[in-house]
Amino acid sequence: VSHAEQKLASAEELEEFRAAVRAWLSTNLPREWGETNSTADQSQLIERRRLWDRVVWEGGYAGITWPTIYGGRELGLAQEFVFHEEAAVAHAPEPLNIIGLHLAGPAILDAGSEDQKRRFLPRILSAEDLWCEGFSEPGAGSDLAAVTTTATPVEGGYRVTGQKTWTSFADLASRCYLLARTDARAARHHNVSVLLIDMHQPGIVVTPIREITGARHFTDVFFDDVFVSEDDRLGPENGGWELVTLGGLRRQMTGLLDSFRRYVAMKTVLDQLRQCVNECSRHGLIAEVEVLEQDMGLLQWHIRRTLGSMATANGWQKSSSILRIWWSELWQRMAETGLSVHCPAHQDYWRLQYLQTMAWTIAGASAQLQRNVIAERVLGLPR
Ligand SMILES: Cc1cc2nc3c(=O)[nH]c(=O)nc-3n(C[C@H](O)[C@H](O)[C@H](O)COP(=O)(O)OP(=O)(O)OC[C@H]3O[C@@H](n4cnc5c(N)ncnc54)[C@H](O)[C@@H]3O)c2cc1C
Repeated sequence: VSHAEQKLASAEELEEFRAAVRAWLSTNLPREWGETNSTADQSQLIERRRLWDRVVWEGGYAGITWPTIYGGRELGLAQEFVFHEEAAVAHAPEPLNIIGLHLAGPAILDAGSEDQKRRFLPRILSAEDLWCEGFSEPGAGSDLAAVTTTATPVEGGYRVTGQKTWTSFADLASRCYLLARTDARAARHHNVSVLLIDMHQPGIVVTPIREITGARHFTDVFFDDVFVSEDDRLGPENGGWELVTLGGLRRQMTGLLDSFRRYVAMKTVLDQLRQCVNECSRHGLIAEVEVLEQDMGLLQWHIRRTLGSMATANGWQKSSSILRIWWSELWQRMAETGLSVHCPAHQDYWRLQYLQTMAWTIAGASAQLQRNVIAERVLGLPR
């Protein structure tokens, strides 16, 4: 594979890079952001993430593998992993612009025109444009091919009408990576396109949805006859299905990076659990904590194994559903155990962990869907 992201680095180069990241984090990341009993509310947490995206860009750590002409560093994947590992260990917030950095940006790098690359990529890295993902609809979540939001071809572009739902941060976003039906008659999988739609225009209404945690990070988005220029269609007309399902190497890497980041974050949760069990003398839970520790070891082993299969893009894809199920269900078990400790000092922390982690087996694709993928594409079982 000749992609820039496959560039190899020597052990010395990586250690030098790691030391630079650590030094940079120690001076740029506010210490109190990593506290487990933080009293920051949702809007403060979002502001932190927004600010952090900007700080990461200014520090030169956004777009580590992206070409320099679009504002990246053109380093290898290994450096990208080192940065994410160190950032997670230091409790840095996850990016607010996760869709821009890890979904839309890589897709534009893979399939965008030169004009799209120049218009969108630098503004994603610099955190000037926040992106959202407009895939799910009330009648199309697991079955994405059933989207009914229509983009009717008109002179110079399309007119979009329909509803998206569960759209994270659409109220803050300036662009949406949208999947819409561009052909009313063509067969399923051959009738949708990806549009890079400007969110600041008449005809778009965004209404927040309140989550079980009380937070409002996702929304309903209504499009009423909204114009999108042809220049803002990504890839060929009616070629959207390949774009959203196959994905290039960078997008496949996102799943692995995400699992890795979660693993590091879960280590902190497990430390907290151990501390609560000890401080509250809940000796009956020690065996349960030990099983969770062993399962964390298995998660780490899976991640290492997947990293080892980097040479074959296919190998990564196969692991992503396995990793996703493993970390999301393990995190839910940790949260349940944490809640059962009834630790007076950390009850709010565990309550939030418990409610938040419910989303992890739904977001992206549900655990049942991931199991279907494992059955069909990894194990090759009949449908
Ligand atoms: C925190 C969070 C953030 C999100 N952010 C976004 C976002 O930014 N943009 C976006 O587009 N979407 C977003 N989503 C939506 C998410 O992608 C969908 O919720 C998910 O794909 C499931 O779709 P659904 O909710 O329509 O459930 P459904 O597809 O209706 O599924 C309902 C149930 O049926 C099961 N099921 C469905 N089909 C099958 C099958 N073939 N085999 C076995 N079981 C099946 C599912 O597992 C599930 O248990 C977000 C979701 C969450 C929780």
